[in-house]
Amino acid sequence: MPAKGKIVIDRERCKGCHLCLVVCPTNSIEVDSQLNKKGYSPARFKENPTEGEKGCTGCTSCAVVCPEVAIEVYRAK
Ligand code: SF4
Ligand code: SF4
Repeated sequence: MPAKGKIVIDRERCKGCHLCLVVCPTNSIEVDSQLNKKGYSPARFKENPTEGEKGCTGCTSCAVVCPEVAIEVYRAK
């Protein structure tokens, strides 16, 4: 099933709180084990949903919850 949305995370702005992972209803965000320049483990968008996952719907919950305003959401038609 094709995803209906995508997000772009500014990994250098991210403080690694991982609230976005918690709120995402489609499990579309994971933790990047590679630290950013501030020394945090930033969130990373799963570009390719794994088997059985429906992928980002563009619901914007992650962007709304992010205290650092590090997430932009794009919706596909
Ligand atoms: S909510 Fe924002 S600051 Fe927190 S991990 Fe996600 S992108 Fe980073
Ligand atoms: S827009 Fe919604 S579905 Fe997409 S990554 Fe953010 S919380 Fe998850």
